[in-house]
Amino acid sequence: MSELITIHNLHKSFGDNHVLRGVDLSVERGEVVCLIGASGSGKSTLLRCINYLEQKDEGTIEFEGKSILPKAKSIKELRQKVGMVFQHFHLFPHKTVLENVMEAPVHVKGVSKKEAIAEGKQLLDKVGLQDKYEAYPSSLSGGQQQRVAIARALAMKPTLMLFDEPTSALDPELVGEVLDTMKQLAKEGMTMIIVTHEMGFAREVANKTVFMHDGVIIEGGPSKEFFANPKELRTKEFLGKVL
Ligand code: ADP
Ligand code: MG
Repeated sequence: MSELITIHNLHKSFGDNHVLRGVDLSVERGEVVCLIGASGSGKSTLLRCINYLEQKDEGTIEFEGKSILPKAKSIKELRQKVGMVFQHFHLFPHKTVLENVMEAPVHVKGVSKKEAIAEGKQLLDKVGLQDKYEAYPSSLSGGQQQRVAIARALAMKPTLMLFDEPTSALDPELVGEVLDTMKQLAKEGMTMIIVTHEMGFAREVANKTVFMHDGVIIEGGPSKEFFANPKELRTKEFLGKVL
């Protein structure tokens, strides 16, 4: 395996709120990393800095061996390779499911409509929504909407997928279908960074779990070992509360 993304000494403040305080993290190709930590510890900010939805203050992010320059072209290229799935699905409400999935390939990448339709249908089949091409998001369950959001992100053929608490807004009975979709992607070798409170999923599916506290990564390692043998006191305290 080779490193897909390497983050070094990342800092980010909002006003005088110093949120990221020197984050180091590297993810290899094909690796699934779960990022856990208390609310407010900076997990979403870290993901948002990775695809430049937020501008970092300090530190370096290397993607595919190259530093990302804070230039529009460089950021646009990066965003095409990094898919993101949010807690609240952010689908276009006035577009059908298939139109949602086709939007970026057609309008950002210039893929032909015909090709986008064929690929979009394939992706929707893959996430188990073969009977929903023409449905509108509001007619779907939360779990179905999140699977559309995943298909939509995959439509750009990303190299890296970022998930920010993809199941936190779902009714408990709908969590499993979204986790299963992510598990499938992991099996296919997709590189993923997943912020989650689903500790069972992290332990089972993630190659690596990392714990963030107050804007730094306290510890991380192979998931089985991480959960069986956390080393730092703050990790133990956190796991004590959530497990
Ligand atoms: P987490 O995802 O771990 O819950 P966040 O990254 O969302 O944590 O937030 C970390 C801190 O950064 C919080 O104090 C939050 O209020 C602050 N923060 C996040 N985004 C912004 C923003 N756009 N503007 C100002 N403060 C922000
Ligand atoms: Mg968050």
